[in-house]
Amino acid sequence: MKYFDVVIVGSGPAGAAAAFKLAEKGISVAVLEKETLPRYKTCGGGFVYRGVKMLPFDIAEVAEREFYKVDLVGDNFHFVTERDQPVITMVMRDTFDNFLVKKVTEKGGVVIDDCKLTGLDLNGEFAFLSTSKEEIKTRFVIAADGALSPTAKMAGWDKETRLLIPALEYEVKVSDADFERLSQSVRFDVDAIPGGYAWSFPKKNHLSIGVASGKRTKINLKHYYQEYLTKTLKIDNIISEEQHGFQIPVSPRTDGFVKNSVFLVGDAAGFADSVTAEGISNSIYSGMLVADAIAESNLDVKKAEEIYMSKLEERLLPEIKVGVLMAKFFYDQPKIRNLFMKKYGQGAFEAMTDVFMGKRSYPTDIMKTLKRRVKGMLFS
Ligand SMILES: Cc1cc2nc3c(=O)[nH]c(=O)nc-3n(C[C@H](O)[C@H](O)[C@H](O)COP(=O)(O)OP(=O)(O)OC[C@H]3O[C@@H](n4cnc5c(N)ncnc54)[C@H](O)[C@@H]3O)c2cc1C
Repeated sequence: MKYFDVVIVGSGPAGAAAAFKLAEKGISVAVLEKETLPRYKTCGGGFVYRGVKMLPFDIAEVAEREFYKVDLVGDNFHFVTERDQPVITMVMRDTFDNFLVKKVTEKGGVVIDDCKLTGLDLNGEFAFLSTSKEEIKTRFVIAADGALSPTAKMAGWDKETRLLIPALEYEVKVSDADFERLSQSVRFDVDAIPGGYAWSFPKKNHLSIGVASGKRTKINLKHYYQEYLTKTLKIDNIISEEQHGFQIPVSPRTDGFVKNSVFLVGDAAGFADSVTAEGISNSIYSGMLVADAIAESNLDVKKAEEIYMSKLEERLLPEIKVGVLMAKFFYDQPKIRNLFMKKYGQGAFEAMTDVFMGKRSYPTDIMKTLKRRVKGMLFS
């Protein structure tokens, strides 16, 4: 039976970032991936600068496009922000994730694809993993297996405490004229769908267009996507269109991130940003935090848990908690939001762009400021 100090389930950005750091520190690590690599991942592929600058290597060879300007559009507003560095780098996740995985193997990490985790025994000093290929023994398991996280279920997270929102993503080829017109900007349209937003992300030769909504009642995403395509983007000639649907966890679990020797990262933990549903950068960040925690603990599970939790509390968890409140304000009350945006929108979007750039976090007192400004607007 093979042994690794750490086994990571899932080769997305969270798993790859954790594996890269562990391998770099000389800790034996294997990444198990159920799909054959490279694999398609349903995602807009908009990678914000705060994530880009966390990576210790250049990603230019897998960047489809870089956007220094971003557009935020609503019924009564249209704001544009611009920075000296690319605010959003567009990637296709099959190429991007595979590039990260290659970096892991260059550092000495082992990556096993076509290898699905099917069982987990956590009853002794070591963890034993059953997979579709072989049995593996380890000291630490990192669950980086995304929104559905079968690993978390096997490890005892039996109640769903994250908020999972449905999203539809289309890879769309349009006419040359439409591509020329629409490929100049990255846009987020917050009034295109109730309780969420629609996006148009230009890639090298096509557009990734999608819709996501946190509305608690049933919603016909396809209807809003089609309306967005025809009414907002004014596309009437579609050359080809591939539909993909999945869920995005936009709030963290409330029942912990570590059980026995199993550590949750990325979507498995619920670390996507609640306001933007942007999950790649926090996946990378949480992957790096858990790798540092394991290395600093000298492979002591209890110590690693304490260190991981304190690292999460430094920035990631407080930021996400504020984000959850902001998302409620932003998506649940569109009329008030739009009044607010009309008056303060450019400043708010500049601040949001600074969060994308990793220049600032959400202010912890933001809800007080929002409430004060809304009161001022309504009663002036
Ligand atoms: C429609 C849509 C659009 C999005 N757009 C964006 C965007 O533009 N920008 C952004 O930042 N975020 C976006 N996100 C969110 C982003 O895709 C996720 O937050 C991110 O991929 C999470 O990374 P991860 O490494 O945690 O998990 P994932 O990237 O989901 O990787 C998990 C991996 O685990 C593997 N796996 C699962 N089960 C097993 C098993 N039993 N055994 C072995 N392997 C297993 C999977 O095959 C997968 O490769 C979007 C999400 C959706 C659904």
